[in-house]
Parts: sequence; C-alpha cells; structure tokens
Amino acid sequence: MPCVLLLSDIHANLPALEAVLGDAENRNPFSETWVMGDSIGYGAQPNEVVDRLRSLPNLSIVKGNHEAAALGEISLDTFNPTAMAAALWTQRNLRDDVADFLRSLPSMSTERGVTLCHGTPRNPIWEYLFTPSTAELNLQHFDTIGCVFGHTHIPSLFSIDSNREWVVRQATDGERWELSSDRWYVNPGSVGQPRDLDPRASYAVLHMADDAKPSISFHRVEYDIERAQDLILSAELPNALAFRLSVGR
Ligand code: ZN
Repeated sequence: MPCVLLLSDIHANLPALEAVLGDAENRNPFSETWVMGDSIGYGAQPNEVVDRLRSLPNLSIVKGNHEAAALGEISLDTFNPTAMAAALWTQRNLRDDVADFLRSLPSMSTERGVTLCHGTPRNPIWEYLFTPSTAELNLQHFDTIGCVFGHTHIPSLFSIDSNREWVVRQATDGERWELSSDRWYVNPGSVGQPRDLDPRASYAVLHMADDAKPSISFHRVEYDIERAQDLILSAELPNALAFRLSVGR
C-alpha cells in the first residue's frame, strides 16, 4: 500500500525537516513525497533544504509565494516588513542552481488523482484556504476528488458530509481519518514554522489502497528548535523569526 509523505511550508528550516524525515521513515516507509510550497523563506538554510528535498524518492513539488518572492516573480509590496527582509535575504543567499530548480517548478500539479497547490487551485500562490466558503468556491477550479495544499500552516481536513455540508477539522498529533467524501482538501501543516500554537514540526501521510478509500494521518515531531533559532540569529535574519518558532505562531 503506497504511502505518500506530505510536506508543506518547510521555510528553510533544515533541523525541522530532518526530524520529520526521520520520524516518517520510522513510522511508515514512504515511496513518494509531495511538497506544497514555501520550502524556503524565513529560515536560514534554503539551499540545504532544497538539496535534501531533491534527494527524496519520487518528489513532486510546487511553488509557493515565498519561492515566487525570492525569485523576483512577484512584488514584495504585500509582504510585511519581516517577511520582506527574509525574502531579500533569501534572494541574496540562494545558490544559482537552487534558484534555477525553484524557477522550473509548477504552481499546481496532479499526482495519483490528487491536485497539489500551495494556496488554492483558484489562486495557487496567494489565496488562503481557511473557510468552507473558500473551499466551496474552489471546487470548480480543479477536477480531481482531492486537493492537498499549504500556506495557512494549519493541519486540517475540509470534507463534504452526506448532507453536502462542509466539515472542517483541525488535526492534532496522531489523528487519522478516512477520505471518504466526494471532495476533500488536506493541509499537512507546516514543517518549519507551525502557527497553531504547537511548536512541533507538522506533517501528514496519505495512505493509498487499491481496495479502500485513502486515509490521511497527521503527525507532530519535536526537533532542535534552538538550533534553528541560532542559525536564524547568526544569519542576521529578523529576530522575530527565531522567537516565533518556540511558541508555534
Ligand atoms: Zn508559508
């Protein structure tokens, strides 16, 4: 039964990524890795994170707003001052080959009948999927049953119940749900900068089976937060980016 590792919003946090990969490998060997964008930006190790991702089996990865910003593909005007400082730092520090790789990424893709995007299918770079109304409006913008996304940094499942009402569930560590509804959206949460007040790195695993509906499990992993913070401070990135990692917001 193939297991797909779902990662999003790593944000150049290599200690968090390594902890997640170790935990995922121990728990359930995975044969594919899907990454829903914002692999870089905010953290101090964008090149190392991209190199590590490229070493993973059957990688499918899409572009987020932080890739687009670091590559100069979108204006930084809408970024807050901290995010802008981090984007400019990332622009200066990306290796050329890493920038070329990121530039080549699509903003949406389809794997095994599931749509991958960073924000939403309607606006893959920028739109946040927080509410049932946004979920509903986006249904006409993709034609697969499921969609995996990121951007909000909140591990969650949006699904439609038998009365055709949207059900939104925020996931905590160890939860596993069957993906039985007609349409669904899954966010694995953020590896490198969680914002649900749980500072542990977040990821999810999609369990596919030929003879049953797929299911999704959500996991949280402790990692060396101090190490990630030291790297941010010694890189002279904004202090706030280090501080927020200890509180998970
Ligand atoms: Zn992000």
